[in-house]
Amino acid sequence: MSSVLQTKPVAQDNLAEKLNFQQKLQAVTNKIHATEYIDEIILELSQDWCNLFNADRLTIYQVNEDKTSIISKVKTGLNSFKDIKLPISEQSIAGFVAVNKRVINIRDVYDDAELKSYSPHLNFLKAVDAKTGYRTKQMLVAPIVDPKTRDLIGVVQIINSKNGQPFPPIMEEGVVQLCETLAIAFRQRQGPMAVRTKYDALVSNAVISAEELELAQRSARRKNLDIETVLMDEFQVKTPALGDALSAYFGVPYEPAKPDRIRSPDLLRNMSREFCETNMWVPLEDTKDGIVVMALDPERTRASRVVNNVYPKSKIVYKVTTQREFVQTLDQLFGGAGMLDDTGDIGDLLGNLDEEADFEAAGDDISSAANDNELVKLVNKVIIDAYQQGASDIHIEPYPGKGKTEIRFRKDGVLTPYIQVPASYRNALAARLKIMCDLDISERRKPQDGKIKFKKFASLDIELRVATIPSQGGVEDIVMRILAAGEPIPLDKLGLSSNNLKNLKEAIEKPYGLIFVCGPTGSGKTTTLHSILGYLNKPDTKIWTAEDPVEITQKGLRQVQMNPKAGLTFAVAMRAFLRADPDIIMVGEMRDKETVSIGIEASLTGHLVFATLHTNSAPESIVRLLDMGMDPFNFADALLGILAQRLARRLCTKCKEAHVATEEELNLLLNEYALELRNTGMWKADPQAQREKLFEEWKRTFGNDKGEIILYSAKGCDTCTNTGYKGRVGLHELLVGTDDIKKLIQEHARVAEILAVGLENGMRTLKQDGIEKVLQGITDIHEVRSVCIK
Ligand SMILES: [Zn+2]
Repeated sequence: MSSVLQTKPVAQDNLAEKLNFQQKLQAVTNKIHATEYIDEIILELSQDWCNLFNADRLTIYQVNEDKTSIISKVKTGLNSFKDIKLPISEQSIAGFVAVNKRVINIRDVYDDAELKSYSPHLNFLKAVDAKTGYRTKQMLVAPIVDPKTRDLIGVVQIINSKNGQPFPPIMEEGVVQLCETLAIAFRQRQGPMAVRTKYDALVSNAVISAEELELAQRSARRKNLDIETVLMDEFQVKTPALGDALSAYFGVPYEPAKPDRIRSPDLLRNMSREFCETNMWVPLEDTKDGIVVMALDPERTRASRVVNNVYPKSKIVYKVTTQREFVQTLDQLFGGAGMLDDTGDIGDLLGNLDEEADFEAAGDDISSAANDNELVKLVNKVIIDAYQQGASDIHIEPYPGKGKTEIRFRKDGVLTPYIQVPASYRNALAARLKIMCDLDISERRKPQDGKIKFKKFASLDIELRVATIPSQGGVEDIVMRILAAGEPIPLDKLGLSSNNLKNLKEAIEKPYGLIFVCGPTGSGKTTTLHSILGYLNKPDTKIWTAEDPVEITQKGLRQVQMNPKAGLTFAVAMRAFLRADPDIIMVGEMRDKETVSIGIEASLTGHLVFATLHTNSAPESIVRLLDMGMDPFNFADALLGILAQRLARRLCTKCKEAHVATEEELNLLLNEYALELRNTGMWKADPQAQREKLFEEWKRTFGNDKGEIILYSAKGCDTCTNTGYKGRVGLHELLVGTDDIKKLIQEHARVAEILAVGLENGMRTLKQDGIEKVLQGITDIHEVRSVCIK
């Protein structure tokens, strides 16, 4: 709005403006009535209020216990949260309003004449502005007064209107209305006794006396202990009483530790125990009311806005807990002393097993051994630990005779030893796992496969795919894959380079065609396909998927588990889908001519088809499919793109070591990168010029302001169990089905020709994408080399 309109409002506009303001005011009022606690009103609605008044900042003061001062609870716009105490006197603006219980609307707080027109004592403290560099100007300040007793409850102070103009009269009226609503809300939600310290409610609830609380505080100070420990250990205060006191103080519900709490992998994604410990909060679950956050100091957590930054799109429900229960909950969610099921430490569990036990017998004995309580706990613990450590597979490797059974976990693609189980337990262990997935425990000579629905056995809702394989010495190996339940990763978070992301989105937004994701087992193909489907999953789109196994589930997708024993193969499923009005079809794997032909046919008849292939590179996939006997013309028509993928370990962000890249290192990287380009026209013509051009581009894109490129190397710390790596990053090679590529397909060209044209069209090879991720400090060249071996 222009200033001309501001100073000379047209009647019509004024009315519309008024209506608009009243509507917004009503919305805020409704929200106040909908809140449960005073803190919620103050902390969660302040942004709404700023919007309503088109203001920059807002402070709400509450009258202090002593009735001689007011205390501010929050200041929006500042990162720090602090109680600001002002005496109720005419010296400060808010104090003046508190004394006189009247609204004031100041044009400029730096204008002494204007301030003195209210009171000769009135002053504005410019020191805070001077310190923060913020210029306070307009101020609209109103008292919150009890409608019955006329007692002062607090003060609302609205600072700086966004358009630089004084707050208009309509807002003066508005703030009065709002303060009336607030007065009622505050009175309704405030108990007869206000609470001063976190544990005062213990006294008012007659759990302990005021003297005892004092003694406890003194004892805690003297012994340098935390007061909760003293209250519990020396004064026998029970945890729930402590929780209730905290709840009364913070004005949010108390959340006790619960033995059956289930870890939410989605909420805890990218969150470490350390982070939760330092910040004193942890997310528990996503409910219809919002994400429940357990905190030691919900007020501080809320004011820091960190939770909102972590979950920007969600409403947050804060709950308070005691120190001990917080630690217990962290143990439960991240592993540690306690755990999901109270089965103790894996070392203790192993100790409980009887080394001399003879479970070698067959038949009934083995099944009773398999149900032995300690063994059941051990098996559950192994699975829970694997899951909590982020392992993808559990390998159980028995040895004949007296040899112990080795259990290893695959984490970030690498196997690491976990524990060894006494030889005498190997058969019972195998039997237990077979029982868990309904396999025949007497069949020990043939491979079997099954699935464990783990929530039947413990309070953890995951599934495991189990394969048993008889191995040398009459024993049985068992390998279990943990199926990552839960939601797909958003496409934007897959780690695709911006160019690849743009091109991939363009390809998948086409109404029909064929898109392949290729790579060896464990290269994250399914994850990527589900991210793509998640991106395309809309209410107006029918998506059928044929998968083996269904690892990720998504609402809106119709997912079909393959069952070859029952005759449900990929080909059968695809034919069925074509009769079932699909828009998009995803096929877990295309490995034979039949499924690929149906896929091509489906895409040419107006469907978008996705599939995975077990090929190494994008250009190689084309040649492989043509060799399979695909019609080159149909295939060329159908193809939208091929994405090849690998997973490289990420350098641990906690301990990776930076150094300025040496000339030698850069030369090596340039050579490796250039090797991929050697068959392209430009590099053939003038490799030296191209190399220099590439180097300049690297310095521009990846260098610091001095033009240096920083590389990182793995070191090792507690966070990454001393490996130097934590988590993985995708490397990608996206070959787009451009006209040039389609032409090569029709001509049945060689891999090298397709590669060269792809590169000329802007493709990056897996290796090149990897090198770019090295230059960004995400991974290192050793990782890239090891996963890019052809
Ligand atoms: Zn580390």
